[in-house]
Amino acid sequence: MSNNEPNHEECDATKMTKEQEDDNPPSQMLRWVGNKNLSLQITIMQATEQTTVSVKDTWNKRPLIISGPCSAETEEQVLATAQRLAATGKINMLRAGIWKPRTKPGMFEGVGAKGLPWMQQAKKITGLPTTVEVATGKQVQDALTFDVDVLWIGARTTVNPFSVQEIADALRGVDVPVLIKNPINPDLELWAGAVERIARAGVKDIGLIHRGFSSYGNTEYRNAPMWHLAIEMKLKHPDMLMVNDPSHICGRRDILLDIMQKAIDLDYDGLMIESHIDPDNAWSDAKQQVTPEVLNEMLDTIIWRKEDVNSEEYHAALEKLRQQINHLDDELMQVLSQRMKIAEQIGTFKKENNITILQTNRWNEIIERASAKGEKIGLSKEFITKYFDAVHMESINHQKKILDS
Ligand code: PEP
Ligand code: MN
Repeated sequence: MSNNEPNHEECDATKMTKEQEDDNPPSQMLRWVGNKNLSLQITIMQATEQTTVSVKDTWNKRPLIISGPCSAETEEQVLATAQRLAATGKINMLRAGIWKPRTKPGMFEGVGAKGLPWMQQAKKITGLPTTVEVATGKQVQDALTFDVDVLWIGARTTVNPFSVQEIADALRGVDVPVLIKNPINPDLELWAGAVERIARAGVKDIGLIHRGFSSYGNTEYRNAPMWHLAIEMKLKHPDMLMVNDPSHICGRRDILLDIMQKAIDLDYDGLMIESHIDPDNAWSDAKQQVTPEVLNEMLDTIIWRKEDVNSEEYHAALEKLRQQINHLDDELMQVLSQRMKIAEQIGTFKKENNITILQTNRWNEIIERASAKGEKIGLSKEFITKYFDAVHMESINHQKKILDS
């Protein structure tokens, strides 16, 4: 147990504790809710009820902004966070972790099913639809019993086909939208596989959450964004909702805004950001959470970009620039083709002299020369290396054809 995380005992979902009973003022009404897997006594506060926005309408909102604490901790914390988020007028959906997958045992692992009525109550008070993370079939059933509107599959679950299949089986015949976070390791096939399993269960509304990928050692980010992977996933599923989770990418507050802006610049459909009424004392992910008011300011600071505008002038100017790009791309391909022809001549030469295709020294010389030149004209070393790797591979293939002929 880490020092700053309270020691919360496992919750027994079947009965109310003495403490909970004492906490319930007489103005509150008690109701029993049950199904074969779950029997919970929940508290319905007689607060002004808001009309909950239909989850289908919310799902189609752009940008879709989801926020709430990393973890539901207490009823007061969930309700206060929800109310302060709703007061910004910028939040479309309330999130909270109920069951928390933690890297090490002994840390706060979520309040469990007793947090579900808190989310239900928060929805009643604010009108915000709710979303929670599920990792097992039982958690799916419990969440649905308490009218959770959207379920999300966490990064540690997306990596495990057994768990994803168990969730898919629990979702058969249920019309509830599901968000699927990228797996913790940079494996697009696992992400795509999870989408396929949930889709095969008949779930119509599936969305993606890009929360970054874990990497070894200390980096600027808690989870490297690896934007290219999310973009590739988006290209595979162009019509699927794609939300960015800057909180788990950054792991800290100071760079959240940069990542949020980048996601919006890349035309993401929305953001999922963790918020807490007292971030420094949050029971999980304290460093990355912000208050609802700070989040409000951040959302005001972001430059919201549109994918398109209806101005003829803009389209004409864009078209001109695109023509120039097409023209340059054609030229680049011509030059590359000429380069390959020279590589083939070298191949012929090597064949006549019985020499290997790959000559490491020459390759190092090419990369060093190109990196130095590229840097002077604004091309990053990373790009130059990737580009020459691809060109070199193609060149080797051309030479090999000659050697094999
Ligand atoms: C979370 O959203 O709180 C969470 C646990 O996220 P992830 O699955 O991305 O680690
Ligand atoms: Mn978290």
